[in-house]
Amino acid sequence: MASDSEGSRDGQSAPAASSTSSEPESAVETARRQLKRAADRLDIDPNVVERLRHPTTVTEVTVPIERDDGTVEVFTGYRAQHDSVRGPYKGGLRYHPDVTRDECVGLGMWMTWKCAVMDLPFGGAKGGIAVDPKSLSAEEKERLTRRFAEEIREVIGPTVDIPAPDMGTDPQTMAWLMDAYSMQQGETIPGVVTGKPPVIGGSEGRQEAPGRSVAIVTERVCDHYDRPLEDTTVAVQGYGSVGANAARLLDEWGATIVAVSDVNGAMYDPDGIDTQAVPSHDEEPEAVTDHADTVIGNDELLTLDVDVLIPAALGNVITEANADAIAADIVVEGANGPTTSTGDAILAERGVHVVPDILANAGGVTVSYFEWLQDINRRAWSLERVNDELETEMRAAWRAVRDEYERRDVTWREAAYVVALSRIAEAHDARGLWP
Ligand code: GLU
Repeated sequence: MASDSEGSRDGQSAPAASSTSSEPESAVETARRQLKRAADRLDIDPNVVERLRHPTTVTEVTVPIERDDGTVEVFTGYRAQHDSVRGPYKGGLRYHPDVTRDECVGLGMWMTWKCAVMDLPFGGAKGGIAVDPKSLSAEEKERLTRRFAEEIREVIGPTVDIPAPDMGTDPQTMAWLMDAYSMQQGETIPGVVTGKPPVIGGSEGRQEAPGRSVAIVTERVCDHYDRPLEDTTVAVQGYGSVGANAARLLDEWGATIVAVSDVNGAMYDPDGIDTQAVPSHDEEPEAVTDHADTVIGNDELLTLDVDVLIPAALGNVITEANADAIAADIVVEGANGPTTSTGDAILAERGVHVVPDILANAGGVTVSYFEWLQDINRRAWSLERVNDELETEMRAAWRAVRDEYERRDVTWREAAYVVALSRIAEAHDARGLWP
């Protein structure tokens, strides 16, 4: 099955339309609008902004595979490399039917900002294959991944572009990719991908990291608004590696998790859910509602009267259609791009605090960076060290964003963009444009 991974998933069905058209807003449209909004508030060279509106390269490949029944099927794959001024391109590979060139570009832009907010020495990229991973057997998924690795081999590498898991891909997918790449290069090169199983150079704590960072940032933002976690109610959409890990940690730290969900709907208990007792997507796919006394819809979960809402499933779930009905005071974005630009503007107008994805779920790429360091040094870190260093990095990024938030009259998203864009613009300025 499409096991999954990061930044989202657990999926809800396709979200409602967002902005003014009846088409859902594409990731690249959202990313460009956010860039413009933030750049308008910053004294940043418009020439740099113009460069950042465009990816450096988008590689589009044909990925043919033999299905188990002997027929050949052809899929389309992409790798969008957005900006590498601060270091090698970095970002996930997504297997999902909605993967398009534009989506990869938009998600690649977010990776550039995310790495800069965290002050990691990486740029941004994203890729994927337009395929429903649930329709593939494990053998077909392996053949697809190995062939894709071969098709993008020339544009990736441990100092060039380092893929990682995203929706529909997981540590096993990364293991196949690393193996195919290494076989072709004639040497074992663990640092070509992150999010691998620890036995081949993956990092302890990598899979839990995006959910852990969501929990850390939620604790920080609650503290900022003088709200002890013990008095905080939380609803989490999605129960995959992001949603389940965030929910369980916040539960452990004293918050009351009143709703969690998967593709089938949400489990709701105003007295609090025992999050350990509900299987995550990795433990038992799509089983959340089997364990519920009260089931509500995913749309209803989004509008529950809670203190904190954590959308940790698909993108574009908070739109102009439901932003007025969001009752939470704080939204912490676990998924990548869960809020459309119009939805975001409505929330800002209403005074709902939105902690953006590029900060909240950045634990994933941060532990990817730790993994890459471990691979280069051929030395594994303990889980304790990984979690300690992640906490340190998250707190440093949080402080940088909070300082901008307090210094300027901006939203949390704009504050995160200010931090990221200032660092990226400074690097562009130092390196210059050549030839
Ligand atoms: N796919 C993850 C994200 O959206 C992680 C990327 C990485 O680790 O490179 O942040």
